[in-house]
Amino acid sequence: MITRLVEDEARALAAGGGLPAFVYDLGALRDHTADVRAALASAGAPEIFYAAKANPDAPILRTLAPHVDGIEVASGGELAHVREVLPDARLAFGGPGKTDRELRQALDLDVERVHVESPYELQRLAEIAHGSGREVDVLLRVNLAGDRRGVALAMSGPFGMDPDLIDACTGILSSAPQVRLRGVHAHLASGLDAPAMVAQAAEILAWGRAWLDRTGHDGPREFNLGGGMAVDYGDPANRFDWKRYGEDVAALARPGETLRIEPGRAVSVYAGWYVTDVLDVKKAHGQWYAVLRGGTMHIRTPVTKQHDHPFVVLPAGAAGPAVADEPVTLVGQLCTPKDVFAREIPTNRIAVGDLVAFAMSGAYAWNISHHDFLMHPKPTFRYLDE
Ligand SMILES: *Cc1c(COP(=O)(O)O)cnc(C)c1O
Repeated sequence: MITRLVEDEARALAAGGGLPAFVYDLGALRDHTADVRAALASAGAPEIFYAAKANPDAPILRTLAPHVDGIEVASGGELAHVREVLPDARLAFGGPGKTDRELRQALDLDVERVHVESPYELQRLAEIAHGSGREVDVLLRVNLAGDRRGVALAMSGPFGMDPDLIDACTGILSSAPQVRLRGVHAHLASGLDAPAMVAQAAEILAWGRAWLDRTGHDGPREFNLGGGMAVDYGDPANRFDWKRYGEDVAALARPGETLRIEPGRAVSVYAGWYVTDVLDVKKAHGQWYAVLRGGTMHIRTPVTKQHDHPFVVLPAGAAGPAVADEPVTLVGQLCTPKDVFAREIPTNRIAVGDLVAFAMSGAYAWNISHHDFLMHPKPTFRYLDE
């Protein structure tokens, strides 16, 4: 599953003392994003805004931008960064706890849609828009209860508005003509497969249409159906069925409606590899360990997801401690038992000096990690494009 390009770069980095490293295959990212786009080509299929928080690195954004309709940002920091990297991109701005300063920034940087999280936020946005003499287009973010069992992450908590709270927005909107209601936004869960995502889309559309009817909203309507398309860390080859999703969601759309999604993880996760090498191999309390250079301060993903991160061993043929045909636990250099990449994984052979390349490290990896803990060197970053 590792590409020749990434493997060659890994070995070159090892030879040059450049490990650990994040190695990104931009060609693979381009191909994957183009495939996703192609699967969403039918009439009524949703527009795609990439959720920058999954991985906002400039080369990543520049590579995928031609294959998406826009970018979703979730803070003033992301907004400023993405606007600088992609000056012409269509932007949507979501996320809880937006400050006045961030709302002003949204107007200044020509955000196309603000996803409003509460009546109070809408009120402040209305005042800021009024004060600056500008107009702003909004989607109201709803937090539908529903049954989200089995999802990787249910967005329970202060995300968007309960259906009864959202009614408080209608009065604010009616006295704020410079705030234009375009429709409804909902991002309810992460880790859903295509049939579950389609069912959730139907739920959002049914609720959103009824609510917009009730408020007397006429004209074109938009529904942002969120992100959260599943990826399978246990089986990187098992990919979200974009084709089925695209066709089934397109079939739900009605004339005059624009649907939109904002996936992050399922777009960028496959393009990145965290590559490192084995510093030590030993047995402790009956369990074999391979101690790797670096650790979860560079890639917190396996800790936060509580999973075994998928990897391949690239043998280096060095002499030194090794273990064969035993389950091995891969750990990093941190002085904490939580610094684990993968537990008790059956392994043919792993030896000091071997390279280990962790797949699926292109999203929620480096940028969610606590880099400064223990003050080890920062990784090298390589963005390969061929
Ligand atoms: C994080 C987030 C996304 C992206 O979620 P993925 O699981 O990366 O697809 C989309 N929309 C909102 C509002 C989010 O918070």
